[in-house]
Amino acid sequence: MRRLLEGRTALVTGASRGIGRAVAEAFAREGALVAVNYCGSLGKAQETKERIEELGGRAWLFQCDVGKAQEAEQMVKAVIAELGRLDILVNNAGVTRDNLILRMKEEEYDQVMDTNLKGAFLTIRAAVRQMVKQRYGRIINLSSVSGRLGNAGQSNYSASKAGVIGLTKAAARELASRGITVNAIAPGYIATDMTAVLPEKTREAITAQIPLGRVGIPEEVAAAAVFLASDLAAYITGQVLSVDGGMYM
Ligand code: NAP
Repeated sequence: MRRLLEGRTALVTGASRGIGRAVAEAFAREGALVAVNYCGSLGKAQETKERIEELGGRAWLFQCDVGKAQEAEQMVKAVIAELGRLDILVNNAGVTRDNLILRMKEEEYDQVMDTNLKGAFLTIRAAVRQMVKQRYGRIINLSSVSGRLGNAGQSNYSASKAGVIGLTKAAARELASRGITVNAIAPGYIATDMTAVLPEKTREAITAQIPLGRVGIPEEVAAAAVFLASDLAAYITGQVLSVDGGMYM
């Protein structure tokens, strides 16, 4: 049976750990060649590459802070030079700097917006030139349930993830005529390093709000990314797919 992403090339930002790693692995399992972006975790990124190679796939590493325009441009150029084309872009790189509004420092706000929202914009801007030339592209942006519902203590993060939804819809409208689809995934509570830092009490309180009664795993988000990146989703653009156990409905 033909795999869903056979021969496609994909760039996954923040693929050294967590959801990004799971997406990179799932793409490789479906036959894609994968560019693994990381920022600070070289060792973890190498592990992602090794895991992909164990699956019989191929991966390349690209270090870059997606929030810096020049770095994002250079990374996308290097990916295209190495892999030949760029079919799929997953804007997954993300950070949290949680604080109450009264205590939130300007740097905490800026760091989150720079990586989560500006980083997605910069990477899309860099990738679109090639995708327009190809008249083909699949862009998937990681939003969050926090961007849809809001979350106390996460005004910066919620704003960045709501922004990602606006960016997704605007880009979807702008690029549709060029054969490029743009969609977002809004995960709920997924077990990764990002959520491991939360106190046990907070985790219990969140779990109590999940209709399916458990936290999610990165592979469950990766499955949605495979679908949106594949030709099965050719007629879907500008959408936000929740993978959250029913938190937002
Ligand atoms: P994670 O385990 O903390 O991993 C974050 C990833 O982002 C790492 O690979 C990290 O790379 C990368 N990254 C951070 N800053 C970067 C930058 N400036 N440039 C490039 N890469 C950068 O996070 P996660 O839980 O997998 O989350 C992945 C995405 O899903 C994020 O956008 C997050 O907001 C979203 N999300 C997560 C959840 C959840 O419950 N986990 C829920 C909703 C949405 P290095 O380690 O190499 O620095």
